[in-house]
Amino acid sequence: MSARKSKAGSAPKVRITSIRSAPLFGESPKGGWSAEIEPEDSIHALIAVHTDAGITGFGSVFTDARLVAAALKVLEPLYAGEDALQPERVSEKLHQNTFWMGRGGSLTHTISGIDIALWDILGKVTGLSVSRLLGGRHRERVQPYCSLLMEEPKKMKDVVASYKAKGFTAFKIGWGPFGRALDHKLDEAIVKAAREGAGPKSKLFVDAGASDAYWPHGLKWAMRTAEMLKDFEVGWFEEALRPDAIDDFCELRRKSPVPIAGGEVLTRRQAFIPWLTRGAFDIVQPDVTKVGGISEQRRIAWMAYDFGVKYIGHGWNTALGVAADLQMATAFPETDLVEFIGGSPYVDGITVEPFKLDKEGWLQIPDSPGLGIEIDPRKLARYTENPKSLFA
Ligand SMILES: [Mg+2]
Repeated sequence: MSARKSKAGSAPKVRITSIRSAPLFGESPKGGWSAEIEPEDSIHALIAVHTDAGITGFGSVFTDARLVAAALKVLEPLYAGEDALQPERVSEKLHQNTFWMGRGGSLTHTISGIDIALWDILGKVTGLSVSRLLGGRHRERVQPYCSLLMEEPKKMKDVVASYKAKGFTAFKIGWGPFGRALDHKLDEAIVKAAREGAGPKSKLFVDAGASDAYWPHGLKWAMRTAEMLKDFEVGWFEEALRPDAIDDFCELRRKSPVPIAGGEVLTRRQAFIPWLTRGAFDIVQPDVTKVGGISEQRRIAWMAYDFGVKYIGHGWNTALGVAADLQMATAFPETDLVEFIGGSPYVDGITVEPFKLDKEGWLQIPDSPGLGIEIDPRKLARYTENPKSLFA
């Protein structure tokens, strides 16, 4: 470790020299969106924070990489030369000094990736995993739930069964034709088929994906559907309403026989306050690659805990997002699941060692320094044009 000792004290000094981003594209998985993601679309960007100690931290941002590149230019005067070992202070500085430039949007998304990378650096310099830096580890492994797009019933059963055969014991089905086909019978048939594929012992969750464009339903559909989901032992009903319909979410949570989940589109910890204080969710799903990073996510998660709401992360789209979610999943007493996508190249195809399910279908939570994963530059080269800039 080449970090210098500071003159004032014994803490090492590590300065940010540059921050680079790289789009992930070429094999972008479908999202089930009405304006569907094409393989060449970039909706995720990786971030690398370089330091004068030769240590690089990595993060991930859930948005178009062109927006990330622009945001980095705007933020550069604020982060250049900053102390890379003070993630929360540096991220807060970036938030506080950009309030007039559309906070909550591209800048907040980009700060998320920077913040994750700064925690990674702090871990690498101190030799501690991010979860230890967050205060400690409640568990050494966690159950991943396999996130799958809704399909027509016959295919749905086969798809779920195929991932069950790979070892998963929890599943979430979402988006696609559910709700959008305006056919209650089809909705029920899809869930029934997924339950058949999953078997009676597996966990099953349902995500309506009502944050998609022009979601066609309201509270009455959500209530009726929640009743149907109860019959198939569905563990939660996610994004059942348009993402700003807070009054209806509160009503739905009071009346629904199945737990109500949401919050993946919210950014900034402050945006979660009304949703938690008013009782809109049983389960809150902030996305660490959007909300402002680990510094923001941990405050949302603790706020949720104190309101009796379960926190389950939504950083599942890249290996770095999953790595951050895993560290967070052990840092909180009640978090018993992480979202996971089976077979995404951006999760399985960019690290030296891909995530692997154990015999019971669970994931070990790394306890090595930082995020505990290593990006493989050669593998990454398949999904981005200039991977070298991330490893300078
Ligand atoms: Mg969702």
